Amino acid sequence: MEMADNPLDEVRGKIAKMCKIARREADEITLIAVSKTHPAQRIMPLLEQGQRVFGENRVQEALDKWPSLREQFPDAELHLIGQLQSNKADDAVELFDCIHGLDRMSLLKALAKAMDKADKRVPCFIQVNIGKEEQKGGCAISDVPNMIVKAREAGIPIAGLMCLPPADIEPAPFFALLHKLARDNGLMGLSMGMSGDYETAVQLGATHVRVGTALFGERG
Ligand SMILES: *Cc1c(COP(=O)(O)O)cnc(C)c1O
Repeated sequence: MEMADNPLDEVRGKIAKMCKIARREADEITLIAVSKTHPAQRIMPLLEQGQRVFGENRVQEALDKWPSLREQFPDAELHLIGQLQSNKADDAVELFDCIHGLDRMSLLKALAKAMDKADKRVPCFIQVNIGKEEQKGGCAISDVPNMIVKAREAGIPIAGLMCLPPADIEPAPFFALLHKLARDNGLMGLSMGMSGDYETAVQLGATHVRVGTALFGERG
């Protein structure tokens, strides 16, 4: 992927343009800068440019990098975007402002317990296996209503639905399906779209796009 001179401006510009086409307001979209694998000194320039929302996919890596960055930028917001093991729920609840990978009942229970213990409510996106792929995480489409009920009972705020569409095929139908699923279940948030397809996702209703490579370059 080719890097623009100022990747952050470039991505923001593309989101704004797509919003105009789709008749949406640019402030409906939260750009999550996915900084996984990149060291603090690569993250700093984005913070200095005013980017405040970041995504990491490993609890330990985030623990290593973010406490010191947050000392300098206390209003930075950190989202967990990857698979979460139940035994890391306590750390995740402590560190993150939003969790995008709630995908199974055992994790729901672990997160509820962690939130009770920390007396902190962290909004979660329910991750849906939108392409019905065997190897992929995410709860089955048919399990979404039950996950929402159980999350409410456990006091977990549900921010919306999240998906990773199947690789190498047109993502638009999967984004549209996730949008419909969210609407049918009365949820507003849609975490969908990465470097290769965030413009399509914005067109189809994304409220949160998770962009790594287009902002930081290829991961090593
Ligand atoms: C790594 C990752 C991203 C960012 O992917 P890019 O293609 O680098 O933009 C988004 N979402 C999830 C869940 C990821 O793991």
